[in-house]
Amino acid sequence: MPVTEPCRPRNPCVRLEHVTDNTELRIAVIGAGPAGVYSSDILLRQLARTGEGLGLGTRARIDLFEKLPVPFGLVRYGVAPDHPSIKFIADALEKTLDNPDIHLYCDVEFGRDVTLDDLLARYDAVLFATGAVADRPLAIPGADLEGVHGAARFVEWYDGYPMGARRWPLDAEQVAVIGGGNVAMDVARELVRDADDLRVRTDIPDNVYEGILANRARDLHLFVRRGVAQAKFSVQELRELEKLPGVQIVIDEDDFELDDATIEKAGKDKLTRQMVEELFAIREMAEDMEDDGDVDFEGNPATKRYHLHFNSAPVEILGEDGRVVGVRVERTSTTADGVMHRTGEFTDFPVQAVYHAIGYQPAHAPGVAYDDRRGTLANEEGRILSQPGSGDVITRLYATGWAKRGPVGLIGSTKSDALAIVTHMLEDLAAAGNGGRIASDRDPASIDRLLAERGRSPIDFAGWKRIDAFERSEGAKEGRVHKKVIDPDQMRHLARA
Ligand SMILES: Cc1cc2nc3c(=O)[nH]c(=O)nc-3n(C[C@H](O)[C@H](O)[C@H](O)COP(=O)(O)OP(=O)(O)OC[C@H]3O[C@@H](n4cnc5c(N)ncnc54)[C@H](O)[C@@H]3O)c2cc1C
Repeated sequence: MPVTEPCRPRNPCVRLEHVTDNTELRIAVIGAGPAGVYSSDILLRQLARTGEGLGLGTRARIDLFEKLPVPFGLVRYGVAPDHPSIKFIADALEKTLDNPDIHLYCDVEFGRDVTLDDLLARYDAVLFATGAVADRPLAIPGADLEGVHGAARFVEWYDGYPMGARRWPLDAEQVAVIGGGNVAMDVARELVRDADDLRVRTDIPDNVYEGILANRARDLHLFVRRGVAQAKFSVQELRELEKLPGVQIVIDEDDFELDDATIEKAGKDKLTRQMVEELFAIREMAEDMEDDGDVDFEGNPATKRYHLHFNSAPVEILGEDGRVVGVRVERTSTTADGVMHRTGEFTDFPVQAVYHAIGYQPAHAPGVAYDDRRGTLANEEGRILSQPGSGDVITRLYATGWAKRGPVGLIGSTKSDALAIVTHMLEDLAAAGNGGRIASDRDPASIDRLLAERGRSPIDFAGWKRIDAFERSEGAKEGRVHKKVIDPDQMRHLARA
C-alpha cells in the first residue's frame, strides 16, 4: 500500500511513496490537539520498545482525524496569541506529526463523517482526544443579558477559529471578567491590549487587529471569588499582566492582608508560593504606578486601568432593557484551606460587558457515554466505560487529554497522560490475542474510499504545510512571522493548491 515518508528538512513538502507489508496495528485517534498528536507519537515509540515482547510487532499505522481543516486544537485556537511559548509548542507538535506512520485527516469530523462502527471495522483501537470546546454556563441571575459573553467564544474570535465570530462588540468602556484562572487572565489581558503591539508580535488576522483597535474599554475589573493565595494563575500569566503598554494596574490593599495560616499553607506548595510572590510584586507595581501619577509599567501615562479584585464573588449581573449595566459583587473571605465564606457586603460596579471564564466543557463524542459530573468522556484511567462510574469497560475505546481528565491542566499534562493510556491500550491489545489485529477490514485505503463516498476530501500533513507556508508568506509581507488564515474555505483551497 502506498504510504508516505517523513518530510526531508531541506525539502519540507516532498514525501516519498513506499510500500508497507500491510500487517501493522491500526489505530484511529480522534482530535489533532496536543493530546492526539503526543499520544500518536508516544504510541509508536512505546510499540517500538515493547511491542515485540507483547506479541504485537513493532509497527502501527495511526490515522489522526481532526474536524477542523488544520491541526493543533487549543494550541492554535485557545492559547492566547501573545503567549511567548506558543510558537515553540506549535513547532514541536508539527515535528511530531511529520512521521510516516501518522496520517493526518483534517476536515473529517467524528460523528458526522465517520461513525464508531466505521472505525471499529477498520482500526484495532480508537483513542478519543477530542478536547474541549464550550464554556461552562454562568449560573447567576442576569447571565442571559445582552453583553454577557463566555470566554470560549471570545477566545475563538481573537484566535481566528474557523467557525468563530468574525466581529466582536468591543464597545463597552467598563468591562468585568469573572474567573480565577489563566483563561480569565488571557481574556482580561486581550481586553486591554494595545492593538499595534499585539499585531507586531503575533499572528492575529486583520479582523482581530481592527476589532481591538476599536476597543473602547477603559476600566477592566477582574473578579476572583477566593483570595490571593487560592487563585490559579501561572507566574507566566502574571508576568504578562505586568507588561501591558498603556495599562495601570489597580489593586485593593485589603486583598493582600493574609493571615499566618494562609501564608504558611501557601509556602508549602511551590507553584502557589511563586504565584503569591508574583502577586505581591504586582501589588508593589500597582502602588508605584499610582504614586508616579497613574502610569503604565514604563512610566507612560496610562489610558486604561486593570482592577484586580480578590475575595469578590459576582452574584448578579444587573440589566436594563435587556442589556448589562452592572455587576453586583459580594465580598467573601477565604480560609487557609480555601473555604470561602460570604460576608453579606455587596458592591455594584457599573459595567457594560461581562466575560465569564469559569471553565470549559469537554466535547461529546457520538456513541460514547459522557460523564456530566466529571465533565469528561466516561472513562476509567482512559478506558471508555459504557456508563460513568459503571466500571464496565468498552474494549478497544480509549480517551486522553481533556476528553479524559476534564478541562484542567496545561499542554504538558497531555503528554504525561498519554504514556499511561497508551500502555493500557497495548496491554489490552496483547491480551485480545491475534497479535492485537482485531479489525476485520485491514486495507488502509478503505478509509479513503469511505470518506470519498461521503464527499469528504481530507487535508493531510502536506496540505497543512501548504496552509502554513501561505500564513508565513502573508506574515512576511508585514514583517511578521505568521498571519493566520481564518476562512475554512480558503484553508481548503490552499491545502489543495
Ligand atoms: C483559552 C485557553 C488558553 C490556554 N492557554 C494555555 C497556555 O497558555 N499554555 C498551556 O500549556 N495550556 C493552555 N491551555 C490548556 C491547553 O490548551 C490544553 O491543556 C490542551 O489543549 C488540551 O489538549 P487536548 O488535545 O486534550 O484538547 P484540544 O486542544 O481541545 O484538542 C482537541 C481536538 O479535537 C478536535 N475534535 C473535537 N471533536 C472532534 C470530532 N468529533 N472529530 C474530530 N476532531 C474533533 C478539536 O477540533 C481539537 O482540535 C489553554 C486552554 C484554554 C481553553
